[in-house]
Amino acid sequence: MHIDTQLIHLGRETSSAANSVSPPLVRTSTTLFPSLQAYKQAQQGQVFNAPRYGRSGTATTFELQRAMATLAGTESCIATGSGLSAITAVLGAHGGAGKHILVSNGVYGPTRVFCDRELAASGTEVEYFAQDADIAPLVRKNTSLVFIETPASLTMEMLDVRAICVAAHASHVPVACDSTWGTPIYFDAHALGIDISIHAATKFINGHSDVMLGLMTGAERALAVVRSHCDRNGTHASPDACWLALRGLRTLAVRLERHQRSAMVVACWLQGQDSVQRVMFPALSSDPGHGFWKAQFSGAAGPFTIEMQPCHEDAFARFIDGLALFGLGTSWGGFESLVMPAVPHHLRALAGPADSPRLVRLHIGLESADDLCNDLACALSRMRP
Ligand SMILES: *Cc1c(COP(=O)(O)O)cnc(C)c1O
Repeated sequence: MHIDTQLIHLGRETSSAANSVSPPLVRTSTTLFPSLQAYKQAQQGQVFNAPRYGRSGTATTFELQRAMATLAGTESCIATGSGLSAITAVLGAHGGAGKHILVSNGVYGPTRVFCDRELAASGTEVEYFAQDADIAPLVRKNTSLVFIETPASLTMEMLDVRAICVAAHASHVPVACDSTWGTPIYFDAHALGIDISIHAATKFINGHSDVMLGLMTGAERALAVVRSHCDRNGTHASPDACWLALRGLRTLAVRLERHQRSAMVVACWLQGQDSVQRVMFPALSSDPGHGFWKAQFSGAAGPFTIEMQPCHEDAFARFIDGLALFGLGTSWGGFESLVMPAVPHHLRALAGPADSPRLVRLHIGLESADDLCNDLACALSRMRP
């Protein structure tokens, strides 16, 4: 079945019992069992994706997990309370005293903070590598995970996912990837060799800026160590969040199509503006990562980043504050356009505030692209004194 059809029909196995189109929302702390044998079986974890206790999920959670695993073309999925908690569960499950984890340089800022603080404190050695590095010489005997994100957070550099997976797998090291930007629709992570694909479902998957949720997909063999880490740590997605994400999935493909079309219109328009030095968006043929994007992705809905010409802080503030349709706030993937001054975590350490580039991250929402360009034009014109 085409993925567009799957989005409509997956995750509705429990609907028929309720005679409803959507699956019922099951909220519970306690699962009740019909017999001692059923109780014992469930507590021993012998029934995968079956209820045991509210913390490990209800029927609603399992609907979303099954749907997401199928969409990602793999076996299994784990839902957690946020994208970041999915990331830290994967890193935490593979870390520990004496372990070595390779992390690509452009990971999401809070991922890096977790690596530098929590992972380091657990005795894990974290080593960052440049997005274009050959990792084969970096893999050691005690390397337990390669963690990547593509494209890089904010700066949008691509990496050679296939080459990284081949190098890691040659030493039996699993590869985890933050795949939030691509979603399972535009980025077939497991086909490229990624063992654990992580999504902040907070973003495009839910798509309505009203849920925090993390999802990880992979073969059960790859996810087992993460699942037991989540069980021990009480990492838990609320059934309400899962239910809303299931609803978001229904329109994911059509939303992405429109986000993609408008992002392209706005990005091309921005390329022609004097006050914009550079547009970092791998879907543009001028982008240095365009070749990798074409080889690894089937689409790009944004977000993307622009580098402004150097300007005074006051002029910059007049631009940002002059935007009427772009909300000033973090996150992205919802129906509404957003803007955020971007300070990439991996550049912060290298450059002082004086010479760091003035970057702006844009999420192009579902408004008319013409209206968005007009709004940007108006705000850019306010930069002139
Ligand atoms: C937002 C985001 C996260 C974190 O997800 P939350 O649900 O906000 O915790 C992780 N990775 C990327 C690439 C993100 O954009």
